[in-house]
Amino acid sequence: MTENRIYADNAATTALSDTAFEAMLPYLRESYGNPSSIHSFGTEAKRAVEDARKAVAEALGARVNEIYFTSGGTESDNWALLGAAALRGRQGRHIITTEIEHNAVYRTAQQLEKQGYDVTYLPVDRYGRVAPEQLAAAIREDTILVSIMTANNEIGTLQPIPALCEAAKKRGVLFHTDAVQAAGHVPINVRAWGVDLLSLSAHKFHGPKGVGALYVNLRTVLPPLLYGGGQEKSRRSGTTNVPGVVGMAAALGEAVREMDKALPKITTLRDRLIDGVLKLPGVKLTGHPTERLPGLASFYFENIQAEPLVTALNEAGICAGAGSACSAGSGEPSRVLKAAGILVENNKPAAPLRLSLGRYNTAAEVETILERLPQALIKAAAERVILPSVNLDDYD
Ligand code: PLP
Repeated sequence: MTENRIYADNAATTALSDTAFEAMLPYLRESYGNPSSIHSFGTEAKRAVEDARKAVAEALGARVNEIYFTSGGTESDNWALLGAAALRGRQGRHIITTEIEHNAVYRTAQQLEKQGYDVTYLPVDRYGRVAPEQLAAAIREDTILVSIMTANNEIGTLQPIPALCEAAKKRGVLFHTDAVQAAGHVPINVRAWGVDLLSLSAHKFHGPKGVGALYVNLRTVLPPLLYGGGQEKSRRSGTTNVPGVVGMAAALGEAVREMDKALPKITTLRDRLIDGVLKLPGVKLTGHPTERLPGLASFYFENIQAEPLVTALNEAGICAGAGSACSAGSGEPSRVLKAAGILVENNKPAAPLRLSLGRYNTAAEVETILERLPQALIKAAAERVILPSVNLDDYD
C-alpha cells in the first residue's frame, strides 16, 4: 500500500485526532483506576469521566445529567428504541421510523415488530428526505416513539429534525434521532431541537472506536438495556471506558470548536468533488444536493459494479466506500437507494460510490481523486467477473 494513499471514507470511520489521543494517554497508562473505586486511582478516573460528561453535554447543548456513556452508536440506538418501547409500551405499541435508517435502528425496529409492536417505516423522497407533514399524518393515538436519523450514512441527506420533532411533540410522542453521522460535523443543540433521545459515536468525529453516548432528556426515565454493577446511575451498567470517554469528549469539543472553520472548507471540497464527478458520463448524485453532510459526496454509476470500482480506486491509492447495488447475480439492492427511488433495471449493474471527506483532507487530494477516478471507472467497466456483492449489513 502506498504511503500517500488518500482516505476518503470518513463516514465509515475517522482518524483519531492528536488532541483526543493526547487526552487519552494518561488514562491508558498511569491513571488506570476504575471510576467506581473510592481510592485515589478511582477518584482520578471518576473526575475524568465527569469532566468528559460535562464536555459532551456542552457540545450538544444538554445538561450534564442527560449524558450516558455507551459502547457506541449501535448500543445507543438499541437502548433508545428498546428502552422507549419498554417505557411507553403500556400507552401504545406503535413506532414510527424511516426506510433509510442505519441497521442499528432498522433491525431493532424489526425486532420490536417480532415482540408485537407495530412499526411504520416512512418512505422518503428522491433526495432521501422525510417531510414533517408526512410524519404528522402517520402519528396515531397509540404512537409512542418516532426515530428518524439526523444524517444518512449512505447518501448524506440531512433531515429537518426540529420540524420533525415538533410534529412528534405536538402529539406527546417521544422523539429519538440517530445523530451518529452528524455529531461533530453539523451544529447540534438538543434543547433547541427538542429531541428526547440522541445517539452519537466517537469514531465518526475523530474519537476512538467502541465508545459513544446517548442523550436522554431529563423528563425521560429510560429503563436500562444493560443490568449489572449499576454504573451511570444504574441506567447503563458496565465499567466505564475511561480513556474512551475522555477521548470522545476531547474529539467532540475539538470538532465543535473548529466547526466554523472546518465546515466551509469541507463543504467547498465536497462541492468541488461533486462538480468534478458529475462531469463524467453515466453518473448521478445520490442524496440531497444541498441539505447533506458537509463532507459526504455520493454517486451512482451505471453499467459498473461496486466492488471492481472500489478495488480499482484502492489500487489507485484512493480509499472510498461502496454499497451493494442491484447487479446480476448479486445480493439485495441498497435499501436506502431503493427507498429514494434510485433503482436499476434487473440484471443491469450499477455502482454506488461514497467519497466522504473530513477535516484532514486537502484540496490537492480532491484533485487527485478527480484525476484518478476516470481510469478506475474504465478498469471497473472492463471487469467481467461478477463478484459477490458487499453485504449491506457491513455498510456503516
Ligand atoms: N448509525 C449510523 C447512522 C451509523 O453510520 C453508524 C455507523 O456505523 C451507526 C449507527 C453505528 O455506530 P457504531 O459503529 O458506533 O456502532
